[in-house]
Amino acid sequence: MEKNIPELYGSLVFNDRIMRNKLPKDMYKALRKTIQNGTHLELDVANSVAVAMKEWAIENGATHYTHWFQPMTNFTAEKHDSFISPAGDGQIIMDFSGKELVKGEPDASSFPSGGLRATFEARGYTAWDPTSPAFIKDRTLYIPTAFCSYSGEALDKKTPLLRSMDTLNREAVKILHLLGNNEIKHINTTVGPEQEYFLVDKNLYNQRKDLIFCGRTLIGAPAPKGQEMEDHYFGTLKPRVSAYMHDLDEELWKLGIPAKTKHNEVAPAQHELAPVFDTTNVAVDHNQLTMEIMKKVADRHDLVCLLHEKPFEGINGSGKHNNWSMITDTGVNLLDPGKTPAENTQFLVFLVAVIKAVDDYADLLRISVASAGNDHRLGANEAPPAVVSIFLGDELTDVLRAIENDEYFSSHDSVQMDIGAKVLPHFIKDTTDRNRTSPFAFTGNKFEFRMLGSSSSVANPNIILNTAVAEALHQFSEQLKEVPADRMETAVHNLLKETVTEHKRIIFNGNGYTDEWLKEAADRGLYNLVSTPDALPHFTDTKNKELLISHKIFTEPELYSRYEIKLENYVKTLHIESCTMAEIIQKDLIPAVCTYMEQIAHTASLKKAVVPDISVSGEAELLKKLTALSENMMTELSALKSDTARAQETADLLESARMYQKTVLTDMDKLRSFADEAETLLPETVLPYPAYGKLLFSV
Ligand code: ADP
Ligand code: MG
Repeated sequence: MEKNIPELYGSLVFNDRIMRNKLPKDMYKALRKTIQNGTHLELDVANSVAVAMKEWAIENGATHYTHWFQPMTNFTAEKHDSFISPAGDGQIIMDFSGKELVKGEPDASSFPSGGLRATFEARGYTAWDPTSPAFIKDRTLYIPTAFCSYSGEALDKKTPLLRSMDTLNREAVKILHLLGNNEIKHINTTVGPEQEYFLVDKNLYNQRKDLIFCGRTLIGAPAPKGQEMEDHYFGTLKPRVSAYMHDLDEELWKLGIPAKTKHNEVAPAQHELAPVFDTTNVAVDHNQLTMEIMKKVADRHDLVCLLHEKPFEGINGSGKHNNWSMITDTGVNLLDPGKTPAENTQFLVFLVAVIKAVDDYADLLRISVASAGNDHRLGANEAPPAVVSIFLGDELTDVLRAIENDEYFSSHDSVQMDIGAKVLPHFIKDTTDRNRTSPFAFTGNKFEFRMLGSSSSVANPNIILNTAVAEALHQFSEQLKEVPADRMETAVHNLLKETVTEHKRIIFNGNGYTDEWLKEAADRGLYNLVSTPDALPHFTDTKNKELLISHKIFTEPELYSRYEIKLENYVKTLHIESCTMAEIIQKDLIPAVCTYMEQIAHTASLKKAVVPDISVSGEAELLKKLTALSENMMTELSALKSDTARAQETADLLESARMYQKTVLTDMDKLRSFADEAETLLPETVLPYPAYGKLLFSV
């Protein structure tokens, strides 16, 4: 049956059209004002919206509502309340008030707070974010909310994200006005996150404790075939995958998520979905929902969707590409090179602001994507290295070089520029350059931050990016604010020149996967924060604290809480992985090796019983190998257990994280090498878990 997609699209969203239809005109206007300008929402408006929302939700089958929020995990949280309210005569009415819409009070004691809130102060508040539309899922009305403690500290990811968007808006508008662009009142940041994932058969998944507990395989010998044929990338979709993707698209469309592009990725069983970009907070909410719906729809197809950054060794892991730009309320993309000289000045100012921001806060950007899972990708020749650098393409790089050296720019046919004179550079958009190895690439009219892990919320990197760019723009404004109009052009030119000279070290257009680059990056003084425990301590470096606190993104306690939660999360993840591995080796793999050895020994002695002088050298050889392997596994297993115990007993969280990274992970690698070798010797009838070949090639 052909579905009417425009009708289906957003059918479960309380969107602008429905609001306009359902709300009294003055109430609708007041709400729009709040959404657009962030003004305070009066209770009578909230009441009116609540009634409309409830009516609409009930018409669409909802029985409950929930304040949906994003605690400092990578997940979302919800607690459902039904609309029912006793009417006094044993009857009920369906009720929902403005107060209930605007504010919730979930018991928040079990969410990570990083010391922000003692458990006796269990109360947390959720507050409606009217800029992200409410929607219906599983017969519940979902209201996107921010989440804070009783004393007002942000306990979530949305609050700092909204704060960072506000800050960037303020600073961008200020500089636009200084550049003479007075009609612009508001800018928004836009994000389009490309999401990678794996699909595996549910039945096989259920036989892998490592996938169940850790989301990634901890052992597993390589399959005879991997991604070397490059036949999967953009390949034909297999019917089962295609059916899944269709179903997924429809579920996302119903929720107003503009799923646009889908394709096979590099690794076998790996795929990607990209939506059309949206305002950052909406894009973040949508990405959270997308990840959840991906898993749910997979279940219906007897599949499991893996969002871990490194589900399988030896083939590519999964990331997210965070496409990012800024757009004005007049519809101008501030990172679009444009055609007229005036727009070019503006473009160059914003471009150079981003360059400065990324150079000044490369460490924070690296931290914003740091996790145990992502550590397996960054620098592993499949994802950008842990060194943050910017790819601009030859054309823009030449433009900036010309600015820096006061040169006349004319090296490209399509490009005409006259630096320092009346007209600022005029050039067409970079069309050909494609660089896949850069962590932060200019792609025509936006930047693409490519270091994100596939499972994490995209809120963190955008909080940092927005704030760092806001700070760069703030410094520009400070430098330009006293300049008289007739000197502005020269002042802007000088500003661009100074900034390029100071920050050009972050620009690198070459191959980011090479060792030469790592050396050069070190010479340039760029950070190379290889692992999460290397990166995280920089979160509280003075310059970073100053940035985040001065722009009111985090208070000092909020900032330290994020640091602590990230470290805690790292330690816990590695602890679970270590325990899972120990369990699989001890309870499943070594017993399987014993079973097989028994079978071999039995075969050998049976053979001897029938033909006394028969050769059993093959059996003997296998027995020796398997014995050696299981002994090695036993030795490494006890090392793993004692190192894990020691790391866990270490009271200092950072020290503990370092021990997990240095010793526990190394133990796991060693143990894995013996386990994987043993796996190659075991017949499928004995192997206690499905091997890589099955996991990767059976869907
Ligand atoms: P690719 O990077 O594979 O070439 P596209 O350039 O088409 O793909 O876009 C990738 C993602 O970037 C999409 O999600 C798209 O919506 C998003 N995108 C495009 N323009 C912008 C923008 N101005 N701001 C943020 N994201 C954008
Ligand atoms: Mg892309």
